[in-house]
Amino acid sequence: MSTLLDSSVPDWLVTMPKVELHVHLEGTLNPATLLTLARRYDVDLGIGDEQPVDSLFKYGNFTEFIETFTMCSDCLRTAADLGQAVDAYAVDLSRQGVRYAELHFNPEPHLRRRSIAMADALEHMNAARERARLRDGLELRWIADGVRDAASGPVSADRTVDWKIDAGHDSGIVALGLGGNEVGNPAGTFARAFERARRAGFHVVAHAGEAAGPESIWEAIELLGAERIGHGIAAARDPALMTMLRERRIPLEICPTSNLRTGVIASDELLPLETFLKAGVRFSINSDDPPMFGTSLVSEYALVTSLLDLDRRQVATIVADTINQSFADDSTKARLLRELRDHTPFD
Ligand SMILES: [Zn+2]
Repeated sequence: MSTLLDSSVPDWLVTMPKVELHVHLEGTLNPATLLTLARRYDVDLGIGDEQPVDSLFKYGNFTEFIETFTMCSDCLRTAADLGQAVDAYAVDLSRQGVRYAELHFNPEPHLRRRSIAMADALEHMNAARERARLRDGLELRWIADGVRDAASGPVSADRTVDWKIDAGHDSGIVALGLGGNEVGNPAGTFARAFERARRAGFHVVAHAGEAAGPESIWEAIELLGAERIGHGIAAARDPALMTMLRERRIPLEICPTSNLRTGVIASDELLPLETFLKAGVRFSINSDDPPMFGTSLVSEYALVTSLLDLDRRQVATIVADTINQSFADDSTKARLLRELRDHTPFD
């Protein structure tokens, strides 16, 4: 976690109780873990012995990023590997002052490509979740994703909903998500799965307006009922959409370094955060796939704090709104807000 040791990050930012709403379990493997797993399971990472593993984490475009993400996922071969990934990331989150996080994962490719059933995965992930709660008081929740570009297409989301309903609401799963490549994989084909998830009492979110334009965000909201939008930076190009997001209080999950590293924006100056702030569009700050983008949640906060020239109270105000955007139950939200206020007052 070299980013955490960066002396330019103020202590108050590290210790401020934070929450993270958009991070993928499969994208949290650090280079050392990835190398260990790849050797254990004989996965060809496509790099020579002399090359450092993080040389994998350079992408010419969004499609190349998805290919690398799939390769990292292929290094997780058992339910126990998923549990260990949760253990490792929970330690990392706690060191960054994170008190609550919602982690995405992709159950359908885990079964189709690697024969890991979601029920088995959840058993190991929930054991790790309990360890994190007991050790650090860190609360974790799961968002099970359908995948837009999975070989099985919309069936990936349908199956994910079946498994969620079987697992029930005590499984730690709070929502259905939709990941993968938006381009060429429109949201509409997943509408039935999203409706079933909503009827079963799960929240729903979707990646949209990341590599595709504002129309993808409209579809995620109108066809899927998405309550939060993953990324959503393309919204800044559509005034009518901005008005709708503000009026319906639909938040965007912003992942700044991810957008830079996958090439969907050319420079951090082009992140439309100021536009969102001025327009009253809610957002959270997130790390997405931290080692794959050479980042951490603290680094993302440090970047946004400097880009927007925020003071400590303004950062706490963003964290407080993020707590309210989360799918935590009311008593957990109240506890997180209390803890935050004890650290730094907010508006
Ligand atoms: Zn994501």
